[in-house]
Amino acid sequence: MLLKTFSVKRLVQFVKLFLWHNLLKCEKILHKREKMDYIAALQNHSLKVTPQRLEIVDLLYKHGHMNVDDLYKFMQQKFPSLSLATIYKNIHKMCETLFLSEVKIPNQKSVYELTKEQHAHVVCTKCNAIVDVNLNTTSLLDEVTQKSHYHIEETAIVFNGICPNCIN
Ligand SMILES: [Zn+2]
Ligand SMILES: [Zn+2]
Repeated sequence: MLLKTFSVKRLVQFVKLFLWHNLLKCEKILHKREKMDYIAALQNHSLKVTPQRLEIVDLLYKHGHMNVDDLYKFMQQKFPSLSLATIYKNIHKMCETLFLSEVKIPNQKSVYELTKEQHAHVVCTKCNAIVDVNLNTTSLLDEVTQKSHYHIEETAIVFNGICPNCIN
């Protein structure tokens, strides 16, 4: 009887260890794969791959939109000697090759994001949170072209409002 309970305990322990080990392995693989994707993405835009650039991509991937000050704050944790000027230089280079896009927000510092399909931005006036919204702007563009007779090259749409977190 004693032997039986002992072995069940051992078995449970073993299963737990096994699951934990696999979980760790999965996380490692996931992280490795993300890194490989970032490297390929940078190379596709003819950008030299550096640890700093990989970190910028990772942060923007996780946070969506960030201004240079926030990027600097986060990056200092990994690269304490990194200067703000270096981040600006990197961001500039990455925008030049269209790997990153600058999002200009009225009365606020520009934020940057990984270049995606064209979309509108909704900004919270209380906490500055930003979300992407895919919009069909075809009819809007037609109307603008008709009324202005301009050839429209670029559209940047920003909505201001209060996010669900701040409303509650
Ligand atoms: Zn908010
Ligand atoms: Zn966006």
